[in-house]
Amino acid sequence: MLADSAAQIADAGLEWAHLDIMDGHFVPNLTFGPRMLACLKNHHPKLFYDVHLMLDNPDKFSREFINAGANLVSFHIEANLDHAAHLEDIRAHGAKSGIVINPETPIEKLRPALPHCDLVLVMTVHPGYGGQPFQREMLSKIETLAKWRETDGCEFLIEVDGGIDSATGPLCLKSGADVLVTGTSFFGAENKKSFARQFRLG
Ligand code: ZN
Repeated sequence: MLADSAAQIADAGLEWAHLDIMDGHFVPNLTFGPRMLACLKNHHPKLFYDVHLMLDNPDKFSREFINAGANLVSFHIEANLDHAAHLEDIRAHGAKSGIVINPETPIEKLRPALPHCDLVLVMTVHPGYGGQPFQREMLSKIETLAKWRETDGCEFLIEVDGGIDSATGPLCLKSGADVLVTGTSFFGAENKKSFARQFRLG
């Protein structure tokens, strides 16, 4: 099933596979672990594995996912740990570092972590379940991040996750997003190639 999803991503001409890792605590669902990632990486070595840790203690698991083939590991600003130190630890172990922010968390909370990030993931829905409607107020978060990226001289990418479709995707790109995560709408699209193409910049 997962290997099939990875094949569909590669066939659509896309490079990134976004994996939601849940522990049943931070969010109520359970997904899969590093061994499954290693298996995917084996079948589709060219995809860029973007691993989103929805965990209470991401620092306990990041390394395992990096060893299993994660190209990028992101974790939540809502998780209670030294964010800057862990972002640098991810980089030191050879992956790109990302920080994630939930809809209800004020964007200011992220600012100190930004110099340590290669990517910021803005959640436009509450994490844990697919198919929720997009929260439009999140566009101003994307705009603020794009502005700080200029003023603070940082180089992180802005990624958006939750409720992305043909209508909301272009709004995110216009606000300054670089990477869009689509689950429900991508896997439900009849023509995945043309679905993917509509979001391409330039
Ligand atoms: Zn995610």
